[in-house]
Amino acid sequence: MQQFLINYCHTFINLYKFIKPMSKNPKYSFVVPAYNEEANIPALCERLEILMKNTDELWEVIFVNDGSTDNTYSVLNNLSAKNKHIKFIDLSRNFGHQAALSAGLGNAKGEAIISMDCDLQDPPEVIQEMIEKWKQGFHIVYARRRNFRKDSVIKKFGSKIYYRLMGKFTRIDIPKNVGDFRLVDKRVLNEVNQMKEHSRYLRGMVAWTGFKHTFVDYQRPDREKGVSNYTFGKLAKLGMDGVFNFSMLPLRLGFILGFISIISGFGLLLYQIFDVLITGAYYHLYKWLVVILFILMGFMFMLFWVIGEYIGKIYDDVRQRPLYVINEMVNFD
Ligand code: UDP
Ligand code: MG
Repeated sequence: MQQFLINYCHTFINLYKFIKPMSKNPKYSFVVPAYNEEANIPALCERLEILMKNTDELWEVIFVNDGSTDNTYSVLNNLSAKNKHIKFIDLSRNFGHQAALSAGLGNAKGEAIISMDCDLQDPPEVIQEMIEKWKQGFHIVYARRRNFRKDSVIKKFGSKIYYRLMGKFTRIDIPKNVGDFRLVDKRVLNEVNQMKEHSRYLRGMVAWTGFKHTFVDYQRPDREKGVSNYTFGKLAKLGMDGVFNFSMLPLRLGFILGFISIISGFGLLLYQIFDVLITGAYYHLYKWLVVILFILMGFMFMLFWVIGEYIGKIYDDVRQRPLYVINEMVNFD
């Protein structure tokens, strides 16, 4: 009887050991949007396998097929049939990089979530260092590019100007020279997943949460295979989303223009009046009209600004971002 009980317990323990890892969430999730990346996916999977082979932790890689027109779907289908780490979401059409990334992030179950490109421009080897930083307690680890070797002069120049302006005009600190290659803690992801805004600028949204962050520098290699899908138009749209979603400057432009216009209008008016009174100069009617026009235009710009402020408030409300993000609560039950 005793032996039977021991055997029974052993069977139960073994069964538990078997079931536990199956029901457990992965520790690491890799999220990879893919648009026409048939040539890069197998190599990326291989490199991730090599990277993760020494860990006992569970991990998953979630590819998001963003309406590819090549064989991305069947490549993912084959790989995921052979390997349970590999999961994929197939979008009905091309929704764009940020939407595809959001789809993957919305389904990632890991404790640390790493988003990266499919084309091996975000080398998996950097991830080791990112994980180390996460273990040290950082909630966001950005991979920061150290070089823009093969990027066109326009892209280099554009990004320099862009980051400088963004740094000046946004209320939150969006890090420079980082793309969407980053690791975030589950807590950060939960906040980002709650943001339902349609025009998504994920690097800004992650920075907005305000959690403790750090950087890992790396040399960005050239795209392994295929061509860049970020056309100038797509890049410009992303940049605009960044400006419009995180800065009130465009709305305040009305105030600045109005202010300049009114001040210069009044300045000119006073000058002309004094000139007439003191030196008895004669001003043609159109000169008075121009001055008055300046002032009126200024008031009109000001009105635009007032309307803009209201629209800004409506915009803030419809986005329904959380009012605040709590990092820690002490001595609460
Ligand atoms: N991508 C996507 N949908 C698109 C365009 C790009 O999912 O409409 C993916 C693409 O497969 C890659 C990542 O987004 O994994 C970055 O794209 P790309 O390499 O073309 O951009 P670049 O590195 O040139 O800025
Ligand atoms: Mg790329």
